[in-house]
Amino acid sequence: MTVSECGRIGRVWVPGETPLYSRGVLTIDQAAYDAVVAHARRDHPDEACGVVAGPAGSDRPERIVPMLNAARSPTFYEFDPTDLLRLYQDMDARDEEPVVIYHSHTATEAYPSRTDISLAQEPGAHYVLVSTRECGNDEGPVEFRSFRIVEGEVTEEEVRVVPAYGASKPQPMEQQ
Ligand SMILES: [Zn+2]
Repeated sequence: MTVSECGRIGRVWVPGETPLYSRGVLTIDQAAYDAVVAHARRDHPDEACGVVAGPAGSDRPERIVPMLNAARSPTFYEFDPTDLLRLYQDMDARDEEPVVIYHSHTATEAYPSRTDISLAQEPGAHYVLVSTRECGNDEGPVEFRSFRIVEGEVTEEEVRVVPAYGASKPQPMEQQ
């Protein structure tokens, strides 16, 4: 896995290689789902971004890692390169991978923008979009959708929220 210069998550991917997960469904437990939504609400009106890591090869997003939006923008997000490097070191040490890469849209629908699509570099990840356009910082309905983005092609997948994934509890990375 490599961290690209612009601070986005990426790794070398061989075109034509079968994506790691092609089941067309994101299964996420209630705690991780709630944490992603809470993060999106908290950072509104700026876009929130982060990762839900899981054991390599498991397709189970278990450990939510809220990241800082280095762009601090209502229309754009960017992982801080130092944070991202730290996150990857942390995930490598735990034999994890970024199962979910999430960010929020605060004024538009929960669908990847052209920029999101062009910068998506993890064909094996679930790209989750949360839109807080309706309720902002307050409780209320949010859109929560998941997509696979492979070579510029966006495929929406079903989101299945389950009560729990067994013993594993989401465990946030320590923030500075
Ligand atoms: Zn976006």
